[in-house]
Amino acid sequence: MARILFFTQTTGYQARAFEQAAQALGVELVYATDRCRSLDDPWRDGAIPVRFDDVEGAARAVVERARTQAIDGVLAGGDGPARLAAHAALALGLPWHPPAAVMAATSKLQTRGRLLAAGLPVPWFVAMGIDDELGSVAHALRFPCVVKPVGLSASRGVIRADSVDSLEAALARVRRLLRSPDLRRAPAHERDTILIEGFVPGAEFALEGVLERGSLRVLAIFEKPDPLDGPFFEETIYVTPPRLDHDVQRGIAGTMAHAAAALGLRHGPVHAECRLNESGVFVLEVAPRPIGGLCARALRFRTASREGITLEELLLRHALGEALDGYGRERAAAGVMMVPIPRRGRFRDLQGLDAARLVPGVEGIVITAKPGQLIVPPPDGGSYLGFIFARATGTADVVEALRASHAALQFSFESDLPLSGG
Ligand code: ADP
Repeated sequence: MARILFFTQTTGYQARAFEQAAQALGVELVYATDRCRSLDDPWRDGAIPVRFDDVEGAARAVVERARTQAIDGVLAGGDGPARLAAHAALALGLPWHPPAAVMAATSKLQTRGRLLAAGLPVPWFVAMGIDDELGSVAHALRFPCVVKPVGLSASRGVIRADSVDSLEAALARVRRLLRSPDLRRAPAHERDTILIEGFVPGAEFALEGVLERGSLRVLAIFEKPDPLDGPFFEETIYVTPPRLDHDVQRGIAGTMAHAAAALGLRHGPVHAECRLNESGVFVLEVAPRPIGGLCARALRFRTASREGITLEELLLRHALGEALDGYGRERAAAGVMMVPIPRRGRFRDLQGLDAARLVPGVEGIVITAKPGQLIVPPPDGGSYLGFIFARATGTADVVEALRASHAALQFSFESDLPLSGG
């Protein structure tokens, strides 16, 4: 039985989706995780305990395991896991993204430097320490600009500023966020550096793909139909295929491939984001991992003889060295809405779910927030309320279905002010 090492920091939807796909393919999935205690039965799975701040220790543990259990491929579910997977793959002699490339791709600052050096369109950018005064970078500043901590994800800490005053306010907010207790465990370089860069106007697109020994295979391009003009950048709808000419789509794919090569990424999943305007395709990031767990459900693939193939199945096949020729995305348009968070607070309940599910085209709604859970929208939080999925003949119908379904949902929240005596 083929065996794939799966690096993950969570044991939720994404892990379950990979597990299901692995079972169907007859592949054994071995977890490498710091969550062994939260797995249903860690010993049955033979999970390898790793620490995400100890890359070399993790590689040693993996090599040790490989002495008794042959490992045929690696997969990683997020940015931190990708860093470990890269070292492990190198130690095991398996094709994957090189460690330095994963480091560059998961640092917003290094990404900017590599893309600039490769001659790709890049906004102006400048880095500062969390404690530095704005005066230290004043020479470089123009407006509008975007402030972002170099090592966070899910739009946390990403804020647009249109003036010196709003930039000062944004920096104060980012500093508070970077010093908050839940980020204290992040590596120092992720907490201590802030990037300021030019705001890139334009429509935003995401690309899901795999690199096959240096060559990019596009699995899907997503359009993000809601304008993301700031000051905060909460993700909402992803829909594919995008309403763009084929030439423009080819241009996006070409620039993304160039960016992935500039970062040194070579083999494995990539999820990339870009903005498109009259000056060209501006790559925001090329992450060395697949799209986040639940959003992957918006993607289905087919071959000449089979339909309904999941992204997870494709990525397992890729991890085992199979070329993905002959797989294409399904004919239907499909999309997902990451349900916008109306306000910060403790999630109380939800009305209208039945009506929201009945909207034509809507295939499923998954509410991930638990009653009582504190839900915090970007830029301070990275939590999700839930996801709506839709399929239809055309992209516009999918967008309409997602919006109509969302309009039927009413969430209620309690204030998260501390209770007295608590
Ligand atoms: P994260 O990895 O946290 O998602 P990104 O750098 O991808 O951080 O930024 C999150 C979002 O913020 C992007 O999807 C985009 O909408 C917006 N954004 C980031 N940088 C810029 C920029 N320079 N110009 C315009 N929008 C930006």
